[in-house]
Amino acid sequence: MIAYSRQLIEQEDIDAVVEALKGDFLTGGKLVNEFEEALARYLGVKYVCVMNSATSALHVAYQIIGLGVGDEIITTPLTFAATSNTAVQCGAKPIFCDIKFDGNIDERKIEALITPQTKAIAPVDFGGNPLPIKAIKALCDKHKLFLIEDASHALGGELDGVKVGQTADMTIFSFHAIKPITTFEGGAIATNNSDFYEKAKLLRSHGIVKKELWNSDMVVLGENYRLSDVACAMGLSQLGRLDNFIQKRNEIAKYYDERFANNPYFFTIPIEKNKKSARHLYPILLDRTLWCSKEEIFKALHVKGLGVQVHYKPVYQFSYYKEHFGEQRLPTAEDFYRAELSIPCHQGMSMEDAVHVADTLLETLATIKGCTL
Ligand SMILES: *Cc1c(COP(=O)(O)O)cnc(C)c1O
Repeated sequence: MIAYSRQLIEQEDIDAVVEALKGDFLTGGKLVNEFEEALARYLGVKYVCVMNSATSALHVAYQIIGLGVGDEIITTPLTFAATSNTAVQCGAKPIFCDIKFDGNIDERKIEALITPQTKAIAPVDFGGNPLPIKAIKALCDKHKLFLIEDASHALGGELDGVKVGQTADMTIFSFHAIKPITTFEGGAIATNNSDFYEKAKLLRSHGIVKKELWNSDMVVLGENYRLSDVACAMGLSQLGRLDNFIQKRNEIAKYYDERFANNPYFFTIPIEKNKKSARHLYPILLDRTLWCSKEEIFKALHVKGLGVQVHYKPVYQFSYYKEHFGEQRLPTAEDFYRAELSIPCHQGMSMEDAVHVADTLLETLATIKGCTL
């Protein structure tokens, strides 16, 4: 099965991890700082605080801005549930804003959702395609809101030559196995704000500060969200190859873009010239006449070894959200969910694999009977 995304582990990753295993500190050693500094240099930001997942990093970011009961955050429904779950865990109410047909939040629809309770906007760079961060930042400045960008898909992405991570108050990255780079599980907050950074470090480790000798103090209610040295060794090794990974993904994506131009079955999502996508996903959007056959298409592709996936069921459709926040309909998010399939595109694939994926996909779709609308 060719997965829609997967990690690429090479000998240098294995060597780095083995070396770290022989060190004095399996966790809390110097590799944590080294990985954070390397990430900060790569991103062009002042501070990075790594954690054991992007979910943890989101939770900490929301805690840092004091998100709580009575507050609202505006976010996208087209995301992994953690983006809003962690805000709900803080007691806040998620307000879902509709998207555009590239999968990113529709920045023109945000302002109408802002209320006196709104505390933050939390958009997602869908598939690694950088969102219009400047417009959203301007809205946040105008309404005095925090901007927390969930860039779990977008490490290494750029907009107008500016790396994703430089603009928001805090930007969240994921190092889950199939994300742009991996530390097995892992995540980070990138920020230029020293106060946010200090709070992140505190919350990551129980809210405890060391004093003298054995004495310590616990000053805020924190968690254990630390990332181990062994994981950071892996992260440092992977980060060295990130640009190479992204280049490979973009080569495959370019081939797909050309190969699929004007095909009768689906659309692809063009990436504007001023952007560099990290290409966590390569989404295709089925023609409306094929929406009724999506299950059949999904199954047929899996039988033929193409590990396609669907990103995402709109978060408000989950029963937990319906129960707690009521029913909602956002037309573009729902059409996108009906149309979308993520096809294999990752750094472990060869161009022959990409040709095979394209051939198999087009052959399979030719056998599917569409519906009349
Ligand atoms: C993967 C993902 C997360 C969660 O990442 P973890 O590191 O697995 O906690 C959050 N948001 C988005 C958009 C993701 O894709």
